Amino acid sequence: MVPFLDLKTVNLRSRDAFRAALDRVLESGWFVLGSETEAFERDFAAYCGADHAIGVANGLDALHLVLRAWDIGPGDEVIVPSNTFVATWLAVSQAGATPVAVEPDPATHNIDPERIAAAITPRTKAIVPVHLYGQTADMEPILALAEARGLKVLEDETADMEPILALAEARGLKVLEDAAQAHGARYRGRPAGSLGHAAAFSFYPGKNLGALGDGGAITTNDARLAERLRLLRNYGSQVKYRHEERGYNSRLDELQSAFLRHKLASLDEDNASRRAIASAYLAGLAATGWGLPSVPNWAEPVWHLFVVRVARRDEVQAALREAGVQTLIHYPVPPHEQAAYRDMPGVAPQPLASRLAGEVLSLPMTPHMPQADIEAVIRACNEAASRFR
Ligand SMILES: *Cc1c(COP(=O)(O)O)cnc(C)c1O
Repeated sequence: MVPFLDLKTVNLRSRDAFRAALDRVLESGWFVLGSETEAFERDFAAYCGADHAIGVANGLDALHLVLRAWDIGPGDEVIVPSNTFVATWLAVSQAGATPVAVEPDPATHNIDPERIAAAITPRTKAIVPVHLYGQTADMEPILALAEARGLKVLEDETADMEPILALAEARGLKVLEDAAQAHGARYRGRPAGSLGHAAAFSFYPGKNLGALGDGGAITTNDARLAERLRLLRNYGSQVKYRHEERGYNSRLDELQSAFLRHKLASLDEDNASRRAIASAYLAGLAATGWGLPSVPNWAEPVWHLFVVRVARRDEVQAALREAGVQTLIHYPVPPHEQAAYRDMPGVAPQPLASRLAGEVLSLPMTPHMPQADIEAVIRACNEAASRFR
């Protein structure tokens, strides 16, 4: 059986380092918000080319806390992809705001920048592009749309410019990258996590950078946002038992930080391996007639998922299972069709997202998976493709 993702093998490679990290944390006697988390935050910020990283409990919290820190709430609208994992929408709902869906580019399955303008209303406060499958959204047109909403400032030498510029900028839309699937991905040479006003990452075990439990982080170049997030994740408190606002408990702990810091050192190597597997798949599946991933020239994806589009998807998935190849579907039900969102007022049909949900299939993708497994997947796919034209 070729597993979809062999997490056991991935993590056993680090067994000795994990045990050393456990000993270090045990010996320190310090388990939450200490030197391990500080060191990981420093390393992760540098890796993403951002000034600040703030460790939090998970990816959903990372998204939600940024929206809260921007004071986005009831009455506000936030633009989200129709084709994404439900957490992108849940973060907006948790903040009390309304998710407004925008359909994907059918080639990349990522949010289509050309459809965003029509979804912007006077209530829109932010856009949350998702770097789906590990490939960044097309960020330049999204940032341009966001900036276009800001006020222009004509400089006058006598004025105190800083507060004026801050006010003008505040009128623009905020752009929050959902980078939960894109650790290490690049857009026009720049890393995910440094592209918007802030970025949210998840360290759920199955992500490209995965902990041995839950974890998340936010990256940003905005020092004031970073400071507010450090309050919000820790009961709204900077000084113990002094609470400046009604915060949350959402922290990355010392053990997970130590594990993640070790794994961060080999993330580029793991991503390079994913890239090699993706290249083999792209070449080996060229004759299947399936919709293969499309990589624009500005994208350097990290292949969190390798997603093909197949008309007779369910029959193909069953045939692959019989041939010993495990596949998954990301995602079988789009957020707007979930029971959780069926009663949301004004929830519009999203025909493209709905159609993709019936056609997408994610092939096995484990960094350093054996060559024989890669070949077995390609062989089984070609057989299934010729059976189910
Ligand atoms: C995994 C994921 C999240 C949520 O991360 P958690 O750590 O599981 O809360 C959010 N958005 C996307 C696109 C994801 O893939």
